[in-house]
Amino acid sequence: METTMKSSKVDKYQHHDYYLMDELLSEDHLLARDAVRDWVKREVTPIIEQYAEKAECPMHLFKGLAEIGAFGPSIPVEYGGGGMDEMAYGVIMQELERGDSGVRSMASVQSSLVMYPIYKYGTEAHRQKYLPKLGSGELIGCFGLTEPDHGSNPGGMITNIRDDGDAYILNGAKMWITNSPVADIAVVWAKDEAGVVRGMIVEADTEGYSAPEIHGKWSLRASITGELVFEDVRVPKDNVFPEIKGLKGPLSCLSKARYGIAWGAIGAALDCYDSALRYALERHQFGKPIGQFQLQQKKLAEMITEITKAQLLTWRLGQLANEGRVTPAQISMAKRNNVHMALQIAREARQIHGGMGITNEYPIMRHMMNLETVLTYEGTHDIHLLITGMDVTGLNAFK
Ligand SMILES: Cc1cc2nc3c(=O)[nH]c(=O)nc-3n(C[C@H](O)[C@H](O)[C@H](O)COP(=O)(O)OP(=O)(O)OC[C@H]3O[C@@H](n4cnc5c(N)ncnc54)[C@H](O)[C@@H]3O)c2cc1C
Repeated sequence: METTMKSSKVDKYQHHDYYLMDELLSEDHLLARDAVRDWVKREVTPIIEQYAEKAECPMHLFKGLAEIGAFGPSIPVEYGGGGMDEMAYGVIMQELERGDSGVRSMASVQSSLVMYPIYKYGTEAHRQKYLPKLGSGELIGCFGLTEPDHGSNPGGMITNIRDDGDAYILNGAKMWITNSPVADIAVVWAKDEAGVVRGMIVEADTEGYSAPEIHGKWSLRASITGELVFEDVRVPKDNVFPEIKGLKGPLSCLSKARYGIAWGAIGAALDCYDSALRYALERHQFGKPIGQFQLQQKKLAEMITEITKAQLLTWRLGQLANEGRVTPAQISMAKRNNVHMALQIAREARQIHGGMGITNEYPIMRHMMNLETVLTYEGTHDIHLLITGMDVTGLNAFK
């Protein structure tokens, strides 16, 4: 049961746009961005440290996320989405992660890993039945690909379906599934009797389905994570995505989510930079602001340089995504670069805050710990490097 936590923490975040990137965004993008930023300042910042400290998911935010259009921003309006473009989706993810990577995860799982596959691979009946309710936050979804013994190598999955007349019998287990303990439906990937990966919608109240919570995380503490366990779960054949077969189904969803993460990580980096800059100007040592020392200026100058480079990368990625030309390898490069950049900035920002940097007075440690997950999920830092390596050499290091 969620407890209500309130705090008087004031969000002093100020916008940083060194290369005037706002000029490259449309009026709609800026409106969406500002609405999400206001919401994060009002609803997320005042409570997030306490929820993270207690390792509790702020469940009430699901409704708010739906109201600000964070669920399925680029899904057509008639299916309960926002009808916006990919750039808008990116900008929204950036603002959410400026608040917390866990809150961004709540939105990106619902949007990219649940609504997107239902929209793209589901039947018209699936779209009508689930998408409007997912868009409004009436239903919460999760995405089950990773297994206890198959993370970076999802093709090795052992979760499987067996034909049983008008239904399939689903058996197996998924691990590290964001939102699974609170989800109403799960998009699950399992192998059929021919060993082909198939995607399906599994309703959480089906017999044999359970989703125990994973405890003990030091990262994404305000996001709920669990397992998915299937013991002879009867999945009606109508719930299986009819056309999509093989790993390209789940991988295309991951590309969408990774695209959002490439943008989101910039938000976490911006929040750390913003806090570090303010602290460097306010904190005095040796009779002057620490921001006047060259060593601190080096840190701040490098931070805004890296943030600006990451912003340029994602902006171009957004353009390519809007034109339908973006490749999974291009997304891998941006996800890997931007998450690593954000983690480095969190570490530098922590140093600028001195001892205060380790406390919950500042968002730094929470972002830093969150980013450790972001570095690993949706393809690890290593795996994205190998994807780029394969793309430029044409040689597959996974085999
Ligand atoms: C908080 C959280 C939420 C998550 N949410 C979801 C979710 O909603 N749905 C979902 O399906 N999954 C989810 N994941 C799972 C996530 O995507 C996996 O953790 C990730 O893919 C890595 O898998 P693994 O943890 O099994 O690590 P492993 O694959 O075991 O990797 C361990 C290490 O080995 C390295 N490695 C692996 N293969 C190679 C190779 N070929 N060459 C070089 N190095 C290699 C990796 O880079 C890594 O450093 C989540 C994970 C976390 C932590």
